[in-house]
Amino acid sequence: MNESSPTLPTVLITGASSGVGLYASLALTKRDWHVVMACRDLPKARAAANELGIRGDRITLLHVDLADQASVRGLVQAFRATGRSLDVLVCNAAVYQPRLEEPMRSPEGYEISVATNHFGHFLLANLLLPDLERSTWPSRRLITLGTVTANSAEFGGKVPIPAPADLGDLAGLEAGFLAPVAMIDGKRFKPGKAYKDSKLCNMIVGREFHRRHHARTGIVFNTLYPGCVADSALFRSTPRAFQVIFPWFQKNITKGYVTQALSGERVAEVVAGEDFAESGVHWSWGNRQREGRKAFSQPLSARAQDQALAERLWDASVRCVGLSAGAGAEDQAPR
Ligand code: NAP
Repeated sequence: MNESSPTLPTVLITGASSGVGLYASLALTKRDWHVVMACRDLPKARAAANELGIRGDRITLLHVDLADQASVRGLVQAFRATGRSLDVLVCNAAVYQPRLEEPMRSPEGYEISVATNHFGHFLLANLLLPDLERSTWPSRRLITLGTVTANSAEFGGKVPIPAPADLGDLAGLEAGFLAPVAMIDGKRFKPGKAYKDSKLCNMIVGREFHRRHHARTGIVFNTLYPGCVADSALFRSTPRAFQVIFPWFQKNITKGYVTQALSGERVAEVVAGEDFAESGVHWSWGNRQREGRKAFSQPLSARAQDQALAERLWDASVRCVGLSAGAGAEDQAPR
């Protein structure tokens, strides 16, 4: 993949080797964006891009394992070495491991879904904030994928299977989040809930970025739920029967189902569309995506809007990823 489109606006998308991130890459290259696809399996990402016919001169593939903080820092260096301006960052990658009986651990020793989905993106977004600030693109944005199941203000967030997202009083996180701790609330390990908790962190942190940095930088900080992409690889670790029943249920009962291609178009809209230039919004299509319906500015649950909790979550996350207070500086040294 080459660098032959230096004048196009550039978006970096994590987890672009499949699903939402892959189709968002397709949609954005078609809109004349250059996409930096930051992926942990580059041959897989390259093959997926080729299969969709994504133009090779519109993408750059860079390696990252978001669960590994050294790898996240390496991505920042590799991105800067491309010489590109960073105009939009999309924090999209995620793991969902609902059948783990014991917590899987990241290189730093953190439970894997929080390490990947929350810490990896928290570190990346803080390290790349100065790059976004330097961009002269008229609508610089930092977009993070949230989800309906982690927002109890929406029906999907009230479903108690396996348990609703709940960060409790952050006892596990503030204790350092190392073994034997595996949950942010410090309670018993529940792998499906660990994913929901990590996505709730994504949405709270998105609001906190807006509160801390929007007025000063003008950057647009948003989160979104693109609809239920029920047949994406996110569900690869669920039981086989679930992988058949869940898409059927979402298509026919909740009507929340969305194709991977349409989810990618929605992300592209939130990245580049004029209608999405407002900062501090959680855009949620939920099951409202009937033909012609627009995205919906969705309030988060009262708990997700708890300012004191958000600040404590931010501070504890800063410690867990080895940033110093006032995170965002370019010269943050590794731990
Ligand atoms: P997906 O197809 O499984 O895509 C996830 C991507 O994340 C893949 O490219 C995967 O890479 C990558 N990834 C996983 N762990 C990584 C790591 N440690 N380092 C770097 N990349 C890693 O799932 P998806 O449905 O497109 O999900 C994308 C986003 O949408 C997630 O944030 C998810 O929470 C959100 N979302 C999805 C749904 C849904 O219904 N599917 C609903 C709401 C929100 P590999 O290819 O190497 O595994």
